[in-house]
Amino acid sequence: MKIAGIIKSSLIDYPEKASTVIFLGGCNFRCGYCHNPELLHFQDETTQDDAISASGEGINIENLLSFLRSRKRFIDAVCISGGEPTLNRELPLLIGRIKALGLAVKLDTNGSNPKMLTDLLKNGLVDYVAMDIKAPADKYEQVIRNPADLKAIKASAQLLKDAHSQEGFACEFRTTVCKELLSERDIERMLKEYPEAPPWYLQRFHNPGNILDNEGQYSAYPAEEMERLGKRLCVSVR
Ligand code: SF4
Repeated sequence: MKIAGIIKSSLIDYPEKASTVIFLGGCNFRCGYCHNPELLHFQDETTQDDAISASGEGINIENLLSFLRSRKRFIDAVCISGGEPTLNRELPLLIGRIKALGLAVKLDTNGSNPKMLTDLLKNGLVDYVAMDIKAPADKYEQVIRNPADLKAIKASAQLLKDAHSQEGFACEFRTTVCKELLSERDIERMLKEYPEAPPWYLQRFHNPGNILDNEGQYSAYPAEEMERLGKRLCVSVR
C-alpha cells in the first residue's frame, strides 16, 4: 500500500485541528464532478509530492510515518481522503500506526463499505468521519455513474447516526450540489431519506478545471440561492 498524494499542512480539512491530508488511490464511484480523477486509477505509480517519496511511485508508508513524526509539533491530526480509503484492506493497520504517534484521524468516505467502517468505529481507530451522501436514492447511480449499493450506503449512514446520537461521535454528512444533478426538490427528498442525521453540509460545486467529466457542463447554484436553500431546509452551506 502506498499513499497517492499528500497535503503537508491544512487548517481546513479537520474541524479546529491542524492536519496533514493523505490521499489513497482507487474509488468504486465515478462522480463526474470528482476533483481527484487521477486518484481513481492510482496503482502505486504516481505521487503528488516527490519530496517525501523515495521512489517517485507513491509515498511509501515508512516515509509517511517518519514525515509525520517530524511534523508532530505542528499538526494534531491526519485526514485520510481519496479516492475511497476504505477500499484498502490495510487501512486499519495504517491508521493504527498513525494513532500510535498520538495524532487524531479523520476519515473521508463515500459510505460504500459499512463493514470496514464498523471495524474502525469499534476499535476506536477514527476520531471524525465525513461521509458523502450523493443524492436521493433514485438518483444515486446517475450522480456516481456506477452501480450503487444503497443498502451499504444506508448502513454506513445509520452507523454514524447512531454513534453520533448515542456516544457523541464527531461526524458529518456532506453533499456536493451541482445544479445539473440535484434540484431543490431532490435535496429536500434526500434530507428526508436520512432523518435525524448528524450535521449535514451542502457544498457548493466548484470546478478547479480538472474534474473527472469536464464535458459534463456542471455548474453551481448562485451563492444566494444556496444560502436560501440552506436556511429553508435547516442545513449548513459551505
Ligand atoms: S466518491 Fe469521491 S473520490 Fe470517488 S469518484 Fe466520487 S468524488 Fe471522486
